Order: sequence, then C-alpha cells, then structure tokens
Amino acid sequence: MLTSFAGRSVIVTGGSKGIGKGIARVFANSGAKVVVVSRHIAEAEATAEEFRAKGGTAMGFAADITSMGDMQMLADATVKAYGGIDILCANAGIFPQTKIEELSPEDWAFVSDTNLKGTFLSVKACLPYLKKSDQGRIVITSSITGPVTGFPGWSHYAATKAGQLGFMRTACIELAKYGITVNAVLPGNIATEGLADLGPEYAQSMANSIPLKKLGTVEDIGYAALFLASKEAAYITGQTIIVDGGQILPESMDALAQA
Ligand code: NAP
Repeated sequence: MLTSFAGRSVIVTGGSKGIGKGIARVFANSGAKVVVVSRHIAEAEATAEEFRAKGGTAMGFAADITSMGDMQMLADATVKAYGGIDILCANAGIFPQTKIEELSPEDWAFVSDTNLKGTFLSVKACLPYLKKSDQGRIVITSSITGPVTGFPGWSHYAATKAGQLGFMRTACIELAKYGITVNAVLPGNIATEGLADLGPEYAQSMANSIPLKKLGTVEDIGYAALFLASKEAAYITGQTIIVDGGQILPESMDALAQA
C-alpha cells in the first residue's frame, strides 16, 4: 500500500488521451490534484471534467511542450491553482512513421523538438517549484522503441526515446541534491484510441507477439508512474521500468511458438 497522494500536485503532459490520460486517471483516482495538459484546451478540459465527475480534482490546461513560454505559463498556473508542483509526468510525445530514405531533416527536427526538447523544457519550467516540494518527482514516458528495440520507420522517434534516458541519467544526478527523483516508464504496445483506429486484426497480431498475449492498458503505465512518484520510491532514481507484457524477451519467433 502506497502512502496517499491526497493533496499532491501533478502535471501530466499529453494527459488528454492515450497513455497520458491513463496516467492522469490513476493519479486522480489516488487523490492527487491533476493538471491535464495538451495543445487543445477543449480536449484537456473534457478529460479533466471526466475526472471531476468521478470526484477527482483536475483542471485542463492548453500548452505546447515545444514552447518554453507555454511551459512556464503551465508551471505558474499549476502553482496558482494547486499551491505547488510535486510531480511532473513528462509524457506528451508523437510517433509519425517514416523510413530513413523518405525522412526529411524537418521531420527529424519536429519529432526531436517535441519528444526530446519538450521533455527538457517541461522539466526546466517545473524545476523551481519541484525544488520546493518535499517529495519532488519526475516521471518520463519513454518507450521500448529506441532504448531496447527498433522498428522500421521510427529511427527518429527511437532516437528521441533513447535520448530521453540520456537526459534522465544526468538530470537525476543534478537534481538529487533537491531530493527530486527522475525515472522513466518504457511502455510496450499499449491499447490507445489511436491503436483502436487500426482495427482489431492489427491489435490481435501485435498481441500474438507478446508473451502475455495481450496489449497493455493505459492504466498499466499509470500504475508504474504512480509507484515511481510515490513516497515509497524515494530511493529509486535514474531508473527505468519496462511495462510490455514481456514483449522484448523472446529471442526468436520460435521462442514464443514453443512456449
Ligand atoms: P497519443 O494517444 O497520441 O496522445 C498524445 C498526447 O500528447 C495527446 O494528449 C496530445 O494532445 C499530446 N501532445 C502531442 N504533442 C504535444 C505538444 N507538442 N504539446 C503538448 N501536448 C502534446 O499518444 P500515446 O500513444 O498515448 O503516447 C504517449 C507517450 O507514450 C508518448 O511519449 C509515446 O512516445 C509513449 N509511448 C506510447 C506507446 C503506445 O503504445 N501508445 C508505446 C510506447 C511509448 P494534443 O494533440 O491535443 O496536443
């Protein structure tokens, strides 16, 4: 049983849908005060309203993680509304799929700016307030793609997801003196709204390649983030938790077939 999150203030970037919504929901259900962030206020606020309707404390905020100004406004608004920032879940990210031969420098820069620079900017803007928390926590949503595995069309994406871990490993050393921990969750294939659009056959073929034979839920990622943000995880920093149903483990297709 984890110490209660009641009263703790958490920002979830990309919290309006997908994995970020799962993370935000788990925190809201645990009593935390949640800021749901996306570039579109209607979507962020609709998600926050869902949480409020179930008794949670939540507000939507429109901000682009590639903008330092937006991130500063987000941090300031959170402190104004909730009195501080205890937890940052740097989750927002994009994953357009383009193979290297067609990939342009602009494509590369767009994905890098969002996933990698956006992680840095959200941490930088929240840092002055996280320092004031007695239990500052940063949880980054990386991926198995990049740090552990590869997939055609995602060279730029994979580089940003591995890059987030490089950032984390230095950030955790720099921020340790403030009692702030920095960790990452590495999701495998998670059932999000975007995946549902690809149809049940695609989802089933992905599930077949996973030892647990099913896709992860967005809450599976939320529970890992909640643990890393808990009081009980105070001595864990600079680490990763892979949440993938065992997906990265079979050394060949035969390894799954023989199980
Ligand atoms: P998603 O369903 O497409 O949701 C992405 C979220 O990020 C949305 O709330 C989106 O809202 C927001 N967002 C995108 N760009 C933004 C920006 N520049 N500024 C602020 N918000 C922005 O994505 P997802 O599948 O949940 O992925 C979330 C994270 O999990 C990503 O970091 C991704 O790399 C990682 N991940 C996902 C999977 C998976 O299976 N889905 C697997 C491994 C890792 P707006 O569009 O309204 O801004």
